[in-house]
Amino acid sequence: MQSTQYPIVIDDPWFTVSKLDETTFAISEYGHWEKVHSFLLIGQERAALIDTGLGIDNMKRMTDQLTDLPIIVLTTHVHADHIGSHGQYEEIYVHEAEEDWLVSGIKKLSIEQIRKDISRDITRPVPASFDPETYTPFQGKPTGLLRDGDVIELGERALNLYHTPGHSPGHISIYDTSRGYLFTGDLLYDETPVYAFFPTTSPEDLVNSLERIATKITGIQKIFGAHNRIGLEPELLETVKEAVGELRGKKLVRFGTGVHQFDGFSVRF
Ligand SMILES: [Zn+2]
Ligand SMILES: [Zn+2]
Repeated sequence: MQSTQYPIVIDDPWFTVSKLDETTFAISEYGHWEKVHSFLLIGQERAALIDTGLGIDNMKRMTDQLTDLPIIVLTTHVHADHIGSHGQYEEIYVHEAEEDWLVSGIKKLSIEQIRKDISRDITRPVPASFDPETYTPFQGKPTGLLRDGDVIELGERALNLYHTPGHSPGHISIYDTSRGYLFTGDLLYDETPVYAFFPTTSPEDLVNSLERIATKITGIQKIFGAHNRIGLEPELLETVKEAVGELRGKKLVRFGTGVHQFDGFSVRF
């Protein structure tokens, strides 16, 4: 389902760009079953690109149309569907706990599995440059490392970083204090379960991270997850708080307990 909440400003063969406000854009890949979103946040001096998509097509073609300012890439986490166009950008940042994955490859996930997930259930024409047989996730050295509590200044627009592990060890959430936008990557989104059921995930860490974003950040106006629907209401965090209590109370916070559905989101352990 495409967003009806926000106007589409560029409908490219592969990418769909929605305008969240004058200087904030979602770059979505609706042709792929994962419905991945990357986000471009433009400040006075530079712009931040939160993730770079699946790597099926080149995202720089889109960001070039949206800003002339220098772009820094902030990686919510090092999974193939979030680092696809990292190689197109000069300045890329990652949490220190996943530097190694960015440099030497994602751990405990076979390239065969990655290729299978990337190439299945595609509903739009892919560019000729995309070959599922040889697709390889980006590997390279980051420009710098991110840590919990870091503040990224874009020029009259400050981003606060929260280390929110669980889905992966170095997962971060990004809070845009100027707008009250919380970018939650694969920690929180709607429609399909948030994953913490495979090696390198941690159900306990995930629940702690959910609790943290639901209780420790004030002034949230909108939540933007990296998959499915764009722009979730902050009331969802009330459900998240209740879910955290319920999961802990019923001792479900461990591998193998399956999918837990709540009103507006679900998790799979
Ligand atoms: Zn992920
Ligand atoms: Zn993802």
